[in-house]
Amino acid sequence: MFNIRIKIADIAGKVKFSSHEAGIVTPSGKVKLPEEFYAFSGGEEKLSYQARLLHLHSEDEADKHWLALSRQLTDKLKIVEAGERWVGRGIERHWIVSSNYGSFTEAADFLRGAKATVEAEYRYRTEVESGIFTIYPEMPGGLVTLTTERGMELHSGKTLRLESPDGIVFSQAPVGETFHWEHREDLTFKGIIELRPGEKGLLVIAEMPLEEYLASVNSSEMSALSPVEFLKAQTLAARGTVAATIGCHHYGEPFHLCNGDHCQCFYGSGRLESRSEQAAEETAGQVLLYQGIIADTRYAKTCGGFTETYDRVWENYNPGYLPEKYDGKRQEKLTNAEKYIQENPHCWCNPKYHPYPEYYKYAEPWFRWEKEFYIDTLTDLVELKTGKKIGTVKRLVPLERGVSGRITRLRIEGEREVEICGELNIRRVLSDSHLPSSCFLVEETSGKIRLKGAGWGHGVGMCQMGALNMAISGKSCEEILRHYYPGTGITKFF
Ligand SMILES: [Zn+2]
Ligand SMILES: [Zn+2]
Repeated sequence: MFNIRIKIADIAGKVKFSSHEAGIVTPSGKVKLPEEFYAFSGGEEKLSYQARLLHLHSEDEADKHWLALSRQLTDKLKIVEAGERWVGRGIERHWIVSSNYGSFTEAADFLRGAKATVEAEYRYRTEVESGIFTIYPEMPGGLVTLTTERGMELHSGKTLRLESPDGIVFSQAPVGETFHWEHREDLTFKGIIELRPGEKGLLVIAEMPLEEYLASVNSSEMSALSPVEFLKAQTLAARGTVAATIGCHHYGEPFHLCNGDHCQCFYGSGRLESRSEQAAEETAGQVLLYQGIIADTRYAKTCGGFTETYDRVWENYNPGYLPEKYDGKRQEKLTNAEKYIQENPHCWCNPKYHPYPEYYKYAEPWFRWEKEFYIDTLTDLVELKTGKKIGTVKRLVPLERGVSGRITRLRIEGEREVEICGELNIRRVLSDSHLPSSCFLVEETSGKIRLKGAGWGHGVGMCQMGALNMAISGKSCEEILRHYYPGTGITKFF
């Protein structure tokens, strides 16, 4: 079966691993390791850096515009090399890659110029500092070294592949980096652990069969105590989004997916329980098809009442199976976001009507939440996150909202002003880590600005808390999936 590679961490300093019977896989067999060992990456300076822009185009007018713009960029900014391209959902994508720069700063300068041109011309689609624009180190130099606790060298090489029949424990691995649940945790991985020099330090990659990964994803994303019909729906959604986007999220990097919110949460096999395995087995190889194409079945924690459409969060494209949708039994559309945020809609993810089970109580406050800033704190935060000095913040003005009420363009006014585009950027700028969602209204009181918000996550596709409550009310996996991805059908694919 297909093996999937997931980035677990890129981490500075020494990392501790422990395992029974772990060994390094070499062409001539396995070299045994002690029960505890340490790994770090060091050595030469990184060689060079490239700046990359993700280029997308389909047949519509907006995309022709983008195509013309990217040609213009190629001209102005001397982009010398185009990346390989691939086609997904009728959209062609490829990376436009700059020439190599000797330092991160030079690559960043180039990217700033490119970004400014794109933003000026094509503001809506830019995802500032994530996704579309990245700086990519050419394969970092250096070696990975394994030592004993006392520092005695055991092994060294550019790429080390480790394996143990019982799994390998990565001590105090970073989990949920840059989000509000960030912490460290011991994680266990079965299959292969690959160690390479990374951008920040040691790059840790886990490699395993796709179905084993999916069983672990459903217990990482959601509790294994959940009803099995929900876990089946979650597994199908996770399999669909992996199958539909494989290769797109981390193009050119030595892994397919990362283990954070960017791709899908994956915290190893340590949390695997019989119910997650049952859900993976009962749906093995199944995906949702929409008009003959594998549906990219996105999902998020709590929609807050309405699900968001794909084009408001990512590319200018709207798959038919991810429509604007009320997460309840009625058919309705959002007409007044500010009013709705202060209401208690009778939807599947509202804990008032569908109390969350004990193991998800922590998620109840995210259905409706509040966050308050002192003006001074907010002013500092905006400067820190945007790099722009606009003086004391006076007002936050939502300029555009998606169909779920999520703000997609926000103006921050001070003595000068700055405009933030994209739901994730808005969440990032208005928080030390990330706001739960960009669906909020703004209240100004003396010396303070208060946000009243709804939902947790981007809101596209399946609402995990809503789906969980549907399963608790006796709905089947098929019914849940039909609700969130209308027009799709389950097919055994591999
Ligand atoms: Zn990722
Ligand atoms: Zn919901």
